[in-house]
Amino acid sequence: MFDAHAHVNFRDFKEDYDETIKRAQQKGVSMINIGSQFSTSERAVDLGEKYDNCFSAVGLHPFHVVEREVEEEVDEHETIKIKSRAEKFDYEKYKKLALSSNNVVAIGECGLDYHYTTEDKLPEEKKLQQEVLNQQIDLANELDLPMIIHCRDGQDDLVSILRNNPLKKLGEAHFFSGNLDQAKELIEMGYYIGFTGTITFKNRVETVLEILKKMSLDRIISETDCPYVAPVPMRGQRNEPAYVEYVVKKIAEVRGISFEEAEKITEENARRLFNVK
Ligand SMILES: [Zn+2]
Repeated sequence: MFDAHAHVNFRDFKEDYDETIKRAQQKGVSMINIGSQFSTSERAVDLGEKYDNCFSAVGLHPFHVVEREVEEEVDEHETIKIKSRAEKFDYEKYKKLALSSNNVVAIGECGLDYHYTTEDKLPEEKKLQQEVLNQQIDLANELDLPMIIHCRDGQDDLVSILRNNPLKKLGEAHFFSGNLDQAKELIEMGYYIGFTGTITFKNRVETVLEILKKMSLDRIISETDCPYVAPVPMRGQRNEPAYVEYVVKKIAEVRGISFEEAEKITEENARRLFNVK
C-alpha cells in the first residue's frame, strides 16, 4: 500500500517516528512525508534518507505564508490546532534541499488556502499565496518533479493558475475538497486526486464520494494526511501511515472492487505519478 501524504516529519511523531514507520513497514506501506515549511521539509528528507519505505516532498504550504494560529473542529472526535510564523519562500534554498537527495519525489505541499483568511486581508493574501504557488510551479518545472497540491476554497483560482503556468510533470490534488466540475477539470488536465480518511466519516463528504465513484481508477491516490483525520475505526486517535489500509478498504467498497485490487491500483498510481520504483 502507498500513503502518498504523511507528516511523520511533524512534531506529533517526535517521540515515536521510528516505531510509527516500522509499523507501516510491517504492513507493507510506503509513504511520502510532506513538508509544509522549510524545517518540516528538511525533516522529511532526513526520514527518507533513513528508511527504505520513506520518500519526501519539499514545499511551503499556503497556510504558512503569513503569521496565524487556528483551531478547527473537524467533528466531535478531533480538533486541529496549527500555528504559523510566516515564512518567505526562498527559491534557492528549497532547490538546494530538493537536489540534496533522490528521495525527494515532489514539490509540495503547496497551493491555495483562503479558508482561514479574514475578509479584509483576503485580496492581499490571495496575491501572496498565488505568487508563492507560481514560484513553486517554476521550481517543480526546473527540477522536473510533480507537485502535491493543497487547495481549500480557491479551486477556481487554482485551475486558472495551472492553465497559465502549467506543470510539466503534473501532480496530485491532495485531500480534494472542490466540487465535481472542478475535479473533472483537473482530471481532464491530467491530474491525480488524493483521498484521505474523511471518505470513511459518517457525517461527511457526499461530493467527495461521488467524485471517487465516478473518476477514472488510474488517477486515484490513497493517503492519510496523518497525524490528522484518522479514518474510521481509528477516529479519535492520532492518524498514522499504517491506517492507509482503511482508506484503501473504503476505495474498494465505493468502487465495488476487491481490497487487493484497490491496493494494487492505488500503489501503482502513486509509483507512476511520483516515479518511484
Ligand atoms: Zn498535509
